Amino acid sequence: MDPQRGIRKPKQLDAAISIRTVFSVDLDRRPYDDERGPDGYLRYKWRGTDPNHPENVALRRAMQANLPLIWFQGIATGLYLPIAPIWFVDEEPVDLQFVVAFDEQQRDTWARTDDARVIDLRRAYADRIVRERLHQPVFREQVLTAYENRCALCRLRHRALLDAAHIRGDAQGGEPVVTNGIAMCKIHHAAFDNRFMAVRPDYGIEVRADVLIEEDGPTLKHALQGLHGRSIEVPRRRSLRPSSALLEERYEEFLSAS
Ligand SMILES: [Zn+2]
Repeated sequence: MDPQRGIRKPKQLDAAISIRTVFSVDLDRRPYDDERGPDGYLRYKWRGTDPNHPENVALRRAMQANLPLIWFQGIATGLYLPIAPIWFVDEEPVDLQFVVAFDEQQRDTWARTDDARVIDLRRAYADRIVRERLHQPVFREQVLTAYENRCALCRLRHRALLDAAHIRGDAQGGEPVVTNGIAMCKIHHAAFDNRFMAVRPDYGIEVRADVLIEEDGPTLKHALQGLHGRSIEVPRRRSLRPSSALLEERYEEFLSAS
């Protein structure tokens, strides 16, 4: 990719080949929301306001020729995750933007409509495909990168064994943002989700009382009981650390369940 440009059109091609969204930690902004239409399709803004800017022309050519594009998503400063293929299926000049499809079905079923029932159906499919193709992979990479590819609880550093755990779950409306995530190994993720232990807003780890007095082999002893009273390791950058409000909410749930 060309790190200097958001929209890339190599000289030897007629159309653009990639677009880019830079990484930012903006706690007040719900990610992606302002870029989605009522139909759930994502929108990508023009470069500036001139429809004939060469980069907008290059994007329009990709749309007209039905060519796939790569969307580089910012994971950290200078680090990107490529999401591909995506397609531009329409243009909304009044709002200075293109309409983005994430798979063939979204691409091939796009058509302008005012039919509320059709919009609802599209929205349901779009919610799922956008979550799978965009939100989940970007969330995982952003969280693992912020925690330097280590479990925040036990420091395990095998990426294949790591997850980005949500503090407030996806199903409860938790946002796919770094401050709603903690990097955890598979066992600690499952233990966290099943309330074997909790992380307090001051980052201290509390193991459930009945688990603490159990007797069993080394996994229980070291991987669970051994965490009690310790603290999680958080990212060095303050803006990437878990939200204390979300930790508080999750900790209250843990207390009332145990
Ligand atoms: Zn772990």
